[in-house]
Amino acid sequence: MVVIIGAGISGNTAARLLAEQGHHVTIIDKRSHIGGNCYDHWDDNGICVHDYGTHIFHTDNRQVWDFISRFTKWYPFQHKVRGLIDGQLVPIPFNLNSIHQVFPAKLAQRLEDKLLETFGYNIKVPILKLRETDDEDLRFLADYIYRNIFSFYTQKQWDLNPEDLDPAVTGRVPVYISKDNRYFQNRYQGIPLEGYTAIFEKMLDHPNITVRLKTKFEDIRHLINKTDGTGNLASDALKADAILYSGPIDEYYSYEFGELPYRSERFDFLTFDREYFQSEAVINYPNNYTFTRIGEYKHFLGTKSDRTVVSYEYPEPFIRGKNERYYPIVNDTNQALYSQYKAKAEAELEAAKANPENKIPVYFFGRLGDYKYYDMDKAIERAMALVEEVA
Ligand SMILES: Cc1cc2nc3c(=O)[nH]c(=O)nc-3n(C[C@H](O)[C@H](O)[C@H](O)COP(=O)(O)OP(=O)(O)OC[C@H]3O[C@@H](n4cnc5c(N)ncnc54)[C@H](O)[C@@H]3O)c2cc1C
Repeated sequence: MVVIIGAGISGNTAARLLAEQGHHVTIIDKRSHIGGNCYDHWDDNGICVHDYGTHIFHTDNRQVWDFISRFTKWYPFQHKVRGLIDGQLVPIPFNLNSIHQVFPAKLAQRLEDKLLETFGYNIKVPILKLRETDDEDLRFLADYIYRNIFSFYTQKQWDLNPEDLDPAVTGRVPVYISKDNRYFQNRYQGIPLEGYTAIFEKMLDHPNITVRLKTKFEDIRHLINKTDGTGNLASDALKADAILYSGPIDEYYSYEFGELPYRSERFDFLTFDREYFQSEAVINYPNNYTFTRIGEYKHFLGTKSDRTVVSYEYPEPFIRGKNERYYPIVNDTNQALYSQYKAKAEAELEAAKANPENKIPVYFFGRLGDYKYYDMDKAIERAMALVEEVA
């Protein structure tokens, strides 16, 4: 018997895989719905709206793609993002097409030639690396992109100067030396035809899986392997040979080393009486306005409707009890704090494995358990690896 905390994509994947191996699984979530931050719903206009912001599935991992494709058919969506730069909507990441759109023809051609000569074709150069170049024209390009796309966007998104973030985060903002306007180049991409929630309903639809919603771990913790006066399992006990925990690791340990910082977002959803609001599913606003992006949901499945739904995305600090944890803030200080929790979790796991009669092994995973940003495919990959370890 396994108890899983969190019915997001991580918890649901683990639940299904364990159930198929014959384990009995109880999965709990404090929210009133399954799916975690991948949850979506169909609104009155027949549009599938992603409640926690736009989600596009993309992966190169065939095993992950095959697994999730057991629960859905796909709309073959290829994600293209545009950003409002100098009053024009240009492809993001900034690529050769963006250069030709924004700059006069001669300058654009010179920049293209120098980029190709220096780095080659079909290469993504992190913007901070481009800034280090000696060539005057490329430095001009680097400064332009830094100012117009990267700097303000990063400050809005993280409320930090770019230099204060881990290069793993800043490295995600590249210049793409290519004419490919797609945001992702992965082999497998798409939007689930019936939405993400339908995937999770099918994933959890297994005789070995019990789902409990509106249930906080803190509320059932005392019931796990609870015994009655005679040493037998109490009638209201929740039997567990292992706990898989995809909630926040710092919360599990009552914040004893301190709180792990996250960035949150506010989504303002608006419905308009018109067919379309914008040309693409996602438009970025790196410089203007306090929101960072606007997502328009009907693009994802090519839905036809006289009305349209969009979400304005406003980054904000995560405050416990007020909003949700979205993005771990990756830097050395926070990583050091997380390492303390990780070391404690590992020591306790070893102790539990050495004394299985009296202690239950607890495994942390998912974006909150590992304090790590995972795309959906990486969250599935991590859950698959964990199930191999546990089973
Ligand atoms: C704005 C935004 C856009 C994104 N877009 C994309 C995208 O386009 N493509 C992509 O691949 N990925 C995207 N992602 C990433 C994607 O959302 C994550 O990969 C995914 O949500 C991770 O799933 P998870 O199960 O690890 O965590 P979560 O989805 O957060 O699930 C954890 C669950 O645990 C529950 N929980 C927490 N604590 C407790 C507790 N104490 N008791 C009970 N339950 C608890 C929570 O309620 C939650 O349901 C995006 C993320 C964000 C924030």
